[in-house]
Amino acid sequence: MWIKKAISALYAAVFLAALCVGAVISPDGAWAQPSVSTIRFGVHTDKIRLVLEASEKLPVTSFELGEPYRIVLDLPDIDWKVSAEESDKGWGVVAGYRFGQFAPGRSRMVLDLKGPALVDKAFHIAPKAKQPWRLVIDIKATDGAAFAARLSKQEAPKGPAPARAAVLVPPPRPKAAGPQPRKIIVIDPGHGGIDPGAIGRKGVYEKRITLAMAQQLRRELTSRKRYQVVLTRDRDVFIRLRERVAMARAAGADLFISLHADSISNSKVRGASVYTLSETSSDKEAADLAAKENKADLIAGVDLSGESTEVANILIDLAQRETMNHSASFARVLVDEMAETSRFLKKSHRFAGFAVLKAPDVPSVLIEMGYLSNSRDEAQLSTAAYRQKLAEAIADAIDNYFKRRDQTARP
Ligand SMILES: [Zn+2]
Repeated sequence: MWIKKAISALYAAVFLAALCVGAVISPDGAWAQPSVSTIRFGVHTDKIRLVLEASEKLPVTSFELGEPYRIVLDLPDIDWKVSAEESDKGWGVVAGYRFGQFAPGRSRMVLDLKGPALVDKAFHIAPKAKQPWRLVIDIKATDGAAFAARLSKQEAPKGPAPARAAVLVPPPRPKAAGPQPRKIIVIDPGHGGIDPGAIGRKGVYEKRITLAMAQQLRRELTSRKRYQVVLTRDRDVFIRLRERVAMARAAGADLFISLHADSISNSKVRGASVYTLSETSSDKEAADLAAKENKADLIAGVDLSGESTEVANILIDLAQRETMNHSASFARVLVDEMAETSRFLKKSHRFAGFAVLKAPDVPSVLIEMGYLSNSRDEAQLSTAAYRQKLAEAIADAIDNYFKRRDQTARP
């Protein structure tokens, strides 16, 4: 009897713990995470059939998004035992798909469509003998009018809690206590979860490089005992761009550093570059890069309608002017320090409208550490030893930046 009680107490504890952190805990088998072992598409004359083979019956909700056309499937937290290698092969109206964690305890699959199409049916097939569970989604191509009609009837998709209003209404910044308060540095590893970012020539994911780098940089900064470090994500999870900005502001950040490693079609191009926010881009490449990085929310199947004007308002806020100057001066110090360890592009510091740099009161930079499309950059960024050198260079730049700021602030 006591065993039963103990077990139910244990379950209650696990349940509570799961609630606290958003149901992501899966202590060694305490409850098994469902897994997906196969993703398969079948092209039929009247429909495209998607089949997910899974370890158990997967609850699913779906909705469609326009501009560009997408179908989104929301699923429980899934262990994806499938490769994404053939995900852009194309099947009828489906151009390709992505999958991964979307929010704590939730996975998402996004289908990119070549034209308007709707989920016609979704159903489960129970396993016979030793077969897996199958989740079947039937998709039918349609016309623009029918698609628009479905969208207008559809409830707003339930994404992770939209970025708090904190983005627009400044939260009180923590008051400096004591003579030498630790500076708060927010490090933002780009991409994550369902959004892998760039994929290297040898298959390295940008989201993994940025996270590894962020963790090393946190260790380096913490060891210098002058900083309090906050990461926008500490694991492989998707976070909206506005949420990243909101986290920096809620933490009362003195500096925000977003880490990335891009890829481009020309595999010869290599080197790092540093970006700060500007209403006008310094050149076309910077503008293109910002447009690409700003697509992260789109990639994850987030409905962006109604967000663009807010972002525009933040951008033209005059209060931002001073922050932009601080960002630019940090970028200059950063280029100087990083130049000792890293190759740079010809124009090492550039400007463009990156959504993630739009906190009006937090100096913010975005570092493209190198190109994953270049094999040498990819190999370098994949080693902990190189990332450590880079972490030290960035930390030196942070030291110098605050030293200079404190000197000029003194009467
Ligand atoms: Zn990126």
